[in-house]
Amino acid sequence: MNKPLNKRILIKGAYILSQDDERGEFVGDVLVVNGKIADVGFGLQDDDATTIDGTGHALLPGFIDTHRHAWQGALRGLDPSWTYAEYRDHVQIGLGPHLEPEDVRVGNLAAGLMSLDAGVTTVRDESHIMNSPAHADAAIAAHWESGIRSVFAYGWPSTEAESWQFGSVRTHPADIRRIRETVLSDDSARVTLAAMLRGPELSTMEVATQDIQLARDLGLQISMHVGLGEWGIKQAAVRKLHDAGLLGPDMLFVHGCTSTDEELRMIADVGAQVSVASSIEAFMPGLGQPATNRMVAAGLRPSLSLDVETSAAGDLFGAMRAALVYQQLVRAGATGLMERDLETLPTFDSRDLLAFATINGAKACGIDDRTGSITPGKEADLIMIRLTDSNLLPATDIAATIVTAAHAGNVTYVMVAGTVVKSDGFLRGGHSIAELASESRDRIYSRAGIPMPGVQHRRMVSSPEARY
Ligand SMILES: [Zn+2]
Repeated sequence: MNKPLNKRILIKGAYILSQDDERGEFVGDVLVVNGKIADVGFGLQDDDATTIDGTGHALLPGFIDTHRHAWQGALRGLDPSWTYAEYRDHVQIGLGPHLEPEDVRVGNLAAGLMSLDAGVTTVRDESHIMNSPAHADAAIAAHWESGIRSVFAYGWPSTEAESWQFGSVRTHPADIRRIRETVLSDDSARVTLAAMLRGPELSTMEVATQDIQLARDLGLQISMHVGLGEWGIKQAAVRKLHDAGLLGPDMLFVHGCTSTDEELRMIADVGAQVSVASSIEAFMPGLGQPATNRMVAAGLRPSLSLDVETSAAGDLFGAMRAALVYQQLVRAGATGLMERDLETLPTFDSRDLLAFATINGAKACGIDDRTGSITPGKEADLIMIRLTDSNLLPATDIAATIVTAAHAGNVTYVMVAGTVVKSDGFLRGGHSIAELASESRDRIYSRAGIPMPGVQHRRMVSSPEARY
């Protein structure tokens, strides 16, 4: 599945939304040679290439999800009405300690495959299920197996979850050093390593300082969850990092819902990055509202992320729409925890959202030299969306049409580093993991000894043994 099927592929006649400022949007062709974008233009010819007809399709760089807890891939769709506290109680504290390495592999595989199906070619896996070194190995193995590009951000264990968060005095797991030195030492590979730290919002300042030093010693980009609800306001993590001289361009801040405008400007001033988990922030009371507009006002270009599939869909079409829905609510007069001066907040449109979901995602992960736009020399992470499908035709404004209505079913063709993983609307490789996922889920719930959501409803209309 991961070997290039053809070393030369020529896609012809597609509507290209390049996400490259110098190229913009145009009808044209893309030549892929040995996994890289070799040429972009009009009327390209290559007799040795396999030709793909792009007529009637939009061609984009693959979407980039800058923050997903992929280990929950087999725990998707549990309850979209949970609050943040309910999610934490059920999933992180209730189930997290009971995942074996094989469950992490299956979860990551499920997350990777659904992502590819929906045109997400890169996922930054914020892996806070590092219950043992074997869990880390299993998580990474799944990323190789699924075929997705992954930035594997090594987090903390979900065993004794409370002791690892909210004022934690435990320093980051030392196993990250083994992974850096022996497993993911190549920063040009399809799967690379980063550090998911707790920072001063979830650990003490002393621990945060040590953890940041460790990540920098290992040459790893750092991500942190900040601005989580009322807790985030109290902790003012970004300000603490700023005051301690620790803020840097090697940092990605996730959520930032209740980070102040001043903190967002501090992030912008050092050239650090942000990730808006718009669907989850909109769905899950307790986190705060998406800070997308405030981030733009602060001079940031946000990226988008899916966070947890337990409560929101794992595709970036939904995340783009959720970001837009919240902006439009604000414009209509809704006020979130941190909104101010509604008249002067800058807005974003469909083209901005596509950039957030592609090139800005690549910048957020520090991999924009390799992916995120259709630019010669970059790796060929490409997707095609069929514009003649019933929900997209006649595709008057193509960016607006995609943001308004596209879904995974419209994604007909997906390529990661030149390897075709989806064509004619079907994922390649015969990966059907429904059984693996349901077995893993059942094992996790059985070990945890807590009721599985939805089972009682299912039994009312079918047999008690019903499972699917
Ligand atoms: Zn998260």
